[in-house]
Amino acid sequence: MRITVIGTGYLGAVHAACMASIGHEVLGVDSDADKIAELAAGRVPFFEPGLADILGPSVRSGQLRFGVSYPEAGHFGEIHFICVGTPQLAGSYAADVSAVDAAVERLVPECTRDCLIVGKSTVPVGTAARLADVIEDLAPEGCSVELAWNPEFLRESTAVRDTLHPDRLVVGVASDRADAMLRMAYAPMISTGTPYIATDLSTAEMVKVSANAFLATKVSFINVIADICDVADADVVTLAEALGLDSRIGSQALAAGLGFGGGCLAKDVRALEARAAELGAADAVAFLGTIDGTNAGRRRRAIDIARMLVGGSFRDQNVAVLGVAFKPDTDDVRDSPALAVARAIDSQGASVRVHDPRAIDNARARLPHLNYVTDVEKACEGADLVLHLTEWGEYSELDPVALRAVVRNPRIFDARNVLPLDQWLAAGWTTRAFGRRFPQAKPDEVSNPVGAVGGLSPGVAGIAGVAGVAGVAGPTHARRSWCEEGGGPCGCW
Ligand code: NAD
Repeated sequence: MRITVIGTGYLGAVHAACMASIGHEVLGVDSDADKIAELAAGRVPFFEPGLADILGPSVRSGQLRFGVSYPEAGHFGEIHFICVGTPQLAGSYAADVSAVDAAVERLVPECTRDCLIVGKSTVPVGTAARLADVIEDLAPEGCSVELAWNPEFLRESTAVRDTLHPDRLVVGVASDRADAMLRMAYAPMISTGTPYIATDLSTAEMVKVSANAFLATKVSFINVIADICDVADADVVTLAEALGLDSRIGSQALAAGLGFGGGCLAKDVRALEARAAELGAADAVAFLGTIDGTNAGRRRRAIDIARMLVGGSFRDQNVAVLGVAFKPDTDDVRDSPALAVARAIDSQGASVRVHDPRAIDNARARLPHLNYVTDVEKACEGADLVLHLTEWGEYSELDPVALRAVVRNPRIFDARNVLPLDQWLAAGWTTRAFGRRFPQAKPDEVSNPVGAVGGLSPGVAGIAGVAGVAGVAGPTHARRSWCEEGGGPCGCW
């Protein structure tokens, strides 16, 4: 089939390359001419494992082309996948769908053949129905242009595999023709048994945001459990392993730590909350706000713990930050918990040195004033505290004995719960993690168990507030003040 992909960022570039790799003729279109120049030369302008391997050959064979022209796209495509960004709207929790609107409004008048426009961007429920009306108004005379929605569930770092071997395909369609065209586009996946769920437009939109809200709920759940483990002397890593073996629960998104970030999960939870508020679903608003607030509380709590570890103030303290990508195996720093913590600690007077295997360029573009280094040892030289904030595999291989020789004070806070901290302890380090049972420094727990409202962390207070637990005072969630301080997560920086 002849396919266009409008918007060639983390989602669109992968989708375009994967569609070409399964035999379609593909044209990728983006408004960013620099990005298009890179892609057209067969180069991937960001880090995504395995993408260059499938993109380069398809570009060289002519199966995959890139350009900036909507008229060319309108003339070329039988199916147009819309993959433009839907970030958080400034000053609001709602999604900014203006790029989706703009893409549709520019594309439809240029269509010269019957075609299907397929939204893949994550949008608030009701967007597709509204756009279907726009398309009807703008479609050229004699040209049948229809809309479908096909939300995307890929994860950065495994995006190629997720696209070629998805857990399921979900399509919102308004006609048999649209369904048949999408079945044809995804024929190789369907033929190997990928579940294909065809539904209406609204349900398809809702599946995506509900999936992200559920994943976010799991992460925030295990994080509040970690807080209880901290004060109950239980171990959240063992607990999560035992929970995950329950087939009703599953082990994914069940790692206690610094919480979620990135270009999707948090903004999608907030956008769902905002849409639920518009639709009058008050219980959903409260629930989603608590999940997001619990997540924001992880960053604040990490900063509190780090401050305690260096004696109560960051002034004159050297802090090494290991990892600023929002998760390992990506260079994406959008709403990165690690970068937010690095920024806050720097603003509180610490001298911060930041290391990341891939994300330094993106981090520097957002926070140019931080000190970035390309060598872990250099980051740790003279450090009073090492913060492990993004769980790149190479950090688990670090030699605590060798690193002890370069720091000023051997203290490590593993905010991702993956380092072999028993080895660090044995090498003479003071260690700290969320909800772990092994001997660790808990200076914050002497006077204030977990450093927040009424002895409970902001996250715990939030959940308790919703559950109506007596005796717990304080805000239902921590995010509003967090944002006012400029630490994110609302895209304030
Ligand atoms: P991105 O910012 O990496 O890419 C968006 C691209 O759209 C950019 O290259 C931008 O230049 C381009 N663009 C913006 N307006 C345009 C226009 N009018 N015409 C043509 N191009 C335009 O964002 P992303 O991470 O790829 O996310 C895109 C969408 O996919 C979002 O709705 C996101 O929620 C959703 N999504 C993302 C992921 C992910 O892991 N990144 C996963 C599933 C769904």
